[in-house]
Amino acid sequence: MEIRLCSKCGFILGTRPNLKEVDGVCSACINHEKKKSIDFEQRKKWLTSFIKDNKTNEKYDALVAVSGGKDSTAIIRRLFENHGVKKLLLVHMTDEFTKTKAGIHNLNNIIEKFNCDLITVRFNPAELAAHMKNDLTDSLNPLKWFEAQIYKKPLEIAKQNNIKLVFYGENAEFEYGSSETLEIFHPATTDDLKVIYLGAIWPYSAQDSLQAAKEIGFLDLDDFNEWQRQGQLENYSQIDSIGYYMGIWTKFVKFGFGRVTDMACRFVRDGYLTYDQAQELISERDYICDPESKQDFCRTIGITEEYFMQMVDKFANHDLVVKDINGNWRRKDLI
Ligand SMILES: [Zn+2]
Repeated sequence: MEIRLCSKCGFILGTRPNLKEVDGVCSACINHEKKKSIDFEQRKKWLTSFIKDNKTNEKYDALVAVSGGKDSTAIIRRLFENHGVKKLLLVHMTDEFTKTKAGIHNLNNIIEKFNCDLITVRFNPAELAAHMKNDLTDSLNPLKWFEAQIYKKPLEIAKQNNIKLVFYGENAEFEYGSSETLEIFHPATTDDLKVIYLGAIWPYSAQDSLQAAKEIGFLDLDDFNEWQRQGQLENYSQIDSIGYYMGIWTKFVKFGFGRVTDMACRFVRDGYLTYDQAQELISERDYICDPESKQDFCRTIGITEEYFMQMVDKFANHDLVVKDINGNWRRKDLI
C-alpha cells in the first residue's frame, strides 16, 4: 500500500476512520475552509439568548464536562464573560494515572476563578484498570471505555440534577472531518436536554483556546518544570495526567499518525506551520513513545512494559509502519 498525504496539510490519507478526501485534500482541510463562511458572531448572539430563554434550573445555568485543560478553561471563561452565565456545575472524570502539577493547578484555577461547583467522577480503580487492559488487549485502544464514559456520565449527571443544558468543547466529528457540517447541537440532544458544542459557536483553534486560558491563569508543563515529554510538539495539551497520553500514542502504529501529526497538520491549517515544517516535525517525533508516560500507564493498569510492547507489535499495521534497527515502529515512508 502506498502512503498518501493530504496535499494541503500533509495528514496521512486513508487510515483515520471516517476521514474522507476529495481530490487528495482531507475532509478536515475542507471543513476548515467551510468555517470561513459561518457567521460565528451571529451564533454567539444566538447562544446568549438561548441560554437566557432556557433557564429551567434555579441553581445552575448549565453543566460543563471539564478535563481542566486549556479548552475547558476557555469554554468556562467564555460562558461567564460573553454569554451571561452566572452559575455552572462542572463534571470532571478522573483517571488513575499520575496527575501533573499543571493539571491539578489548572482544574483548581477554573473552580476558584469562577466559583463553580464540581462533581468529580472516579471509577473503582480495579474495574477501570481492567477495562483499560481489556481494550488494550482487544484493540490497542486502551481508553475506549473510559472515553465513552467521558461523554456519557455528564449527561446522566445533568439529568439527575435537572439541568437542561450541557456544553462540550470542539465538535470533533467536524474538526477531524467525519461530519460535513458544523452542528451546534450534539446528537445526544433531546427535547429535555440540549447538548451544545461551544466549538461550533467560537471557531475552534488550539492557539485561541490557549491564549484565552493563559490570560486567566492556565499554566503548562514548563511552568512547573515537570515531565519533559518526548514525541510532542507542545507542552500545553493533554497534560493533566502522565499515563493517559499512551492511549493516544497507540494510534500511531495502527493508523500511521499520532499526536504530532494531528497537531502539526492543525497548525498548517491554522497558518502556524508550513507544510514542510510540519512534515519534518512529524518525521522526527511522531513515532517516539514517551518513556515516562509508558511507565505510568503500565504501572497504573497493572501490566508490564513488555506486555504493552507485545500488544503494540500485535496490532501494528504493517502496511503503514515498519521497525527500525533500534526496534522502534516508524512510518514506512519516513525511514
Ligand atoms: Zn488536510
